[in-house]
Amino acid sequence: MTTWPLPPGSTIGILGGGQLGRMLALAAARLGFDVAILEPERDSPAARVAAHSVVAAYDDPKGLAKLARLSDVITCEFENVPAAAVERLRELGAEVAPGARALAVAQDRLAEKTFLNENGVPTVAFAAADSAESAEAAVAQIGAPALMKTRREGYDGKGQRWVEHAAGAAEVFRALGGVPVIVEAQANFVRELSVIAARGRDGALRIYPLAENHHAAGVLRRSLAPARAAPAILDQAERIAAQILTGLDYVGVIGVELFEVEGGILLVNEIAPRVHNTGHWTQDGCEVDQFEQHIRAVAGWPLGPTDAIRAVEMLNLLGEEALEWPRYAAEPESRVHLYGKRQIKPGRKMGHVNRLRGL
Ligand code: AMP
Repeated sequence: MTTWPLPPGSTIGILGGGQLGRMLALAAARLGFDVAILEPERDSPAARVAAHSVVAAYDDPKGLAKLARLSDVITCEFENVPAAAVERLRELGAEVAPGARALAVAQDRLAEKTFLNENGVPTVAFAAADSAESAEAAVAQIGAPALMKTRREGYDGKGQRWVEHAAGAAEVFRALGGVPVIVEAQANFVRELSVIAARGRDGALRIYPLAENHHAAGVLRRSLAPARAAPAILDQAERIAAQILTGLDYVGVIGVELFEVEGGILLVNEIAPRVHNTGHWTQDGCEVDQFEQHIRAVAGWPLGPTDAIRAVEMLNLLGEEALEWPRYAAEPESRVHLYGKRQIKPGRKMGHVNRLRGL
């Protein structure tokens, strides 16, 4: 039986070896923990800063058994970990946080929006479809233009296309691979916001200030935080975060992407059961950042304060933009965070810069 809080010297297992795993591992090390990374690719950004590395597919029984043996608690840095892998880890007696339910909800856009609405959290109108005919009916019901998204495996704007007229729905359905989809009403948002929040093993909640996010081609380019927002918006964001975290009986940090629509109303676009790109500003803007907060939560430690000590403009460095690190490093107001990826590829997230601003 694991007893909480986990003492320093314990090992935190992480499913996934990307930049989020790397920054989680660095935060864990600062609190005296060792980290074990399970990731299919060799030489991953996270494995290179971790005490233990297991190179195996997420569904490889031997790899999962090794991770379970090494770890006192296991978490994940991306949400598309196969549900069967988490089940296997549980069967092996491992503690996994966040749990299977949070992953199941976040992995399927239909389950996610259904969960949100059932818990009193508003979203755009949506309808599910699993054939060309039902896709047409879904668009007719929701109204065009509508956004068709694959139920599973979409991220950074991938796996989604606009349908301009109901008559075009079947073609878009086929272009998306003929897999189950949801059709969403267009959100006429004024801006995109996000809230990062945490829930501890004792049920305590901590909510960070809002970030205002700017995307290009579905990928986050820039976040400004704390976002200026009316008190009514802040109240809605806090209520939404609390409803999601308690509704999922969640342990850890969650990222919630929001649309602010006319009239000062927030709708949830999606939830990420992990630390989130729009929370990177907390590394230089908050007393305790999202990475340390997540480690605290899964290790059963008390959560830390989430107040902003500074305003931050976070810029993602995509592809060759990472080559501009000397320029950012020379700016006294900029903090450079690079992920140690060996190869630059167009659009690949290579690092980010937090530019400090006065509050
Ligand atoms: P997602 O992959 O769901 O996070 O969507 C990526 C981006 O597409 C969002 O950040 C929005 O800019 C845009 N988007 C997603 N859903 C909608 C929607 N229902 N209406 C308008 N824009 C959307």
